[in-house]
Amino acid sequence: MTKNKITQPACNHCAPLQKVTAIQTPEDVRKAIREAHRYLAEGVLKDRQHEGYEKSNFLADVKPEGPWADVLAGDFHCTFCGRSFDLRAETYHGGGGTWGPTTAA
Ligand SMILES: [Zn+2]
Repeated sequence: MTKNKITQPACNHCAPLQKVTAIQTPEDVRKAIREAHRYLAEGVLKDRQHEGYEKSNFLADVKPEGPWADVLAGDFHCTFCGRSFDLRAETYHGGGGTWGPTTAA
């Protein structure tokens, strides 16, 4: 179900994040959120803010330890090359999602 088709080449800054990570357990959710926060803190990634987004859905505001919304959805872009990344996780049933570069549909 996961297609690892990368749409854009990575720059040096976001290269460590070039693999899509499957999120399968609550621990995976925590790890993905922590990693996203680290990249946000380093200024490599920026939250892509969509209109109509619930404030609670901004990944920057989500605590790694929870509580989480039933569905986490974060969209980011690399501030250096503009590449898109997303974090999707369905937490209510114990995980299920992906974190990494946005893949081609
Ligand atoms: Zn980049």
